This record gives sequence, structure tokens and C-alpha cells, in this order.
Amino acid sequence: MREQTLICCHDDVGHMDAKKTLHNLKLRYWWPNMSKDSKAYVRSCHKCQIVNRRTANAYGLLQQLPIPSTPWEIVSADHIVCLPQTRNGNTNMLVQIDHATRYIIATPSASLAAHTVTDALYHNIILRYGPPSMYLSDRGTAFTARHTRRFLQKYGITQSTTPPYSPQANSIVERANGIIVSTLKKMIDQNPNKWDELLPNASLAINTTKQNSTKKSPFYLLHGYEPRLPRELHLGSFIDDTPREDQLDLLTLARAEAANNVYETHLENKQRFDLHRRSHSFTADLVLYDWPKKDHKLSPIFKGPFVIVRPVGAVCYEIKSTTQQNKFIKVVHVQHLRPYFKRNTPTIEENSTDEETERY
Ligand SMILES: [Zn+2]
Repeated sequence: MREQTLICCHDDVGHMDAKKTLHNLKLRYWWPNMSKDSKAYVRSCHKCQIVNRRTANAYGLLQQLPIPSTPWEIVSADHIVCLPQTRNGNTNMLVQIDHATRYIIATPSASLAAHTVTDALYHNIILRYGPPSMYLSDRGTAFTARHTRRFLQKYGITQSTTPPYSPQANSIVERANGIIVSTLKKMIDQNPNKWDELLPNASLAINTTKQNSTKKSPFYLLHGYEPRLPRELHLGSFIDDTPREDQLDLLTLARAEAANNVYETHLENKQRFDLHRRSHSFTADLVLYDWPKKDHKLSPIFKGPFVIVRPVGAVCYEIKSTTQQNKFIKVVHVQHLRPYFKRNTPTIEENSTDEETERY
């Protein structure tokens, strides 16, 4: 009886929000706890949940990556693709960046095959600085290929692939990519197909420039001195006569300060970012997923419900489909999830107003 009443005052009249539904009810009926029942009914309405926008702030606070004290302990990698083809046939570059010093090593390549990643990692990092302890990338096929995973395992490198659609997770290398591209744009002039020849110059320029995050140049943080630059020769350059022991003390201090500066910048960004975010922890095991690709303009925003399999890191969850035959399984950032409320579960949580929606 009550169910029929609710259907008639919510489902049959265009799925209005909780307040309007209650108003409709009050005009016609009364029973004890009617307000509570109607709120729970609307909250667990499948159609409303997949169609309505979230009005509350998205989930997921900005996470801090550990700040390593040793260079080349944590490395992020990413590809820049679809560059103009050079005489050597290169159309892509792999950018690898050290988290402690922000030193970049960019390697041009003709393909996105897995061996281009492992070759660059082996020759440019492992043979020069030793294997890193962690290698971060997106889930591009060159990084997730079995060849790459085996290679990383062989050198005891932990691989971390960030889930798609969460740009902040690998932001260090993405920011570096932007700087490399804009530096190259200014250097290539009339010869865009010579970018691979100019890449070492662009890399040196970036590595010897003070970074906003560390307040030092990557070159200094890695090597402990500022280099003489190619164009400085005719200007006459100063020779740093600081004794070697003092240089090492200064470098240790500079690295500690750099880590501190990175942390402070992160805190500022975090405060700004978290203003529009909420902390999350899904107590319910059913969630809706804000599907990135919409079929058409009238598609619901969310798909689901999905079952939470396990948390992955601090801000991601592995989710899978509830049906047996559809073997959908995916790791997603919490910002794309919302709890799903199943009908006929009497649990009404305290902070129920969080997910209330206003469509009209
Ligand atoms: Zn509804």
C-alpha cells in the first residue's frame, strides 16, 4: 500500500526530488514516519541515482606522493605522441623524470613498443644511476606489456600504473611534458621535423633551470654544482672554488630544502584542491560509476550498480559488474564513484542529505 503510494507520488510524476515527493504525499496521505520513508524511497530509486548529477563535492582528496631523498628512487614516465616525423622516423618521445630532483631524460622513438620503454630505462637510468625502486606511469600498453612488467621485476622495480581519468596521479611527468613541448616549439623555428636533434638542447635547458617546486635546478640537485652552459663560453664563466666537502654539505642541505619546498607547494595545492573535495570511504559495497563515454545526450550519467572489490591505493577502487556473464572489472578513481542505495535495505544513514539532488 505505502509502496504503491510512493510509486504514484514519485515514479509516476517524473521522479522529483525528496522534498517535492514528500510534498506530493502530504497533500494526499499520512502515516507515521512518512517523511523518513519517502526520503529513503527516493534515495534508493535506481533511475534517480543513475540520472541525477551529484550536487555534493566529488570524492577523493589530493594525495601526497612520498618525497624521496635519493635521486632516481622514484621515476615517472610518460609518452608524448603524434609529433612530426623526423628524418630518423621518430614520432614519439618517452619522458622519464626523477621525483627527487625533477631531472628529465627524454628519449625519441619511432614506435610505442614496450622495448622502447625498457631500452630507455636500462641505458639512461639503470646503467647510469642504478635501478629506481618505483616506476610510475599510466596504463599505456607499452607500460603494461608483459615484457615491461618482467623487465621491471628483474631489476626489483615496483611498478605503479595510475588509473585513467585521474590526471593528478601522475602530474609530475605531465607537467614536465608541457614544458618540453613548449621549449621545443620555441627551438624548432622552421624545422619541426628536427625536434629529435634539438631534444638534448631542450632537456639541458630545462634541467639547468630553477624549478618552481624545488626552488633549485634539477642539474644542481642531481650533481651538486651548476654547469657552465654551451653559450657561456665566450662570456667567461666563474669557477666554483668551494671545497668538495663543503659542496657535498651544501648539496645535502639543498636536497632537504627541495623536498621541503615540494611538500609546502603540495600543501598549498592540496588546500585549494580539497576545498572542492570530500574525504571518502565507501562503507556500502555497491557503487555507481560515472561512465566517461556517454552513448547519447540523454544517456544517464552513471552506470551500475557495481560491486567494490578492493581499495587500490588511497583514492582508487577496483569495481566489477554485479552480473556473472558480464565480466567488467576496472580500477577507478573515487571521484567517479558514488554510493548506490539498494531498495528494501532499511539502513538509512545519518548524512543522507549529502547525496540529495535538485534537478529542477
Ligand atoms: Zn526516482
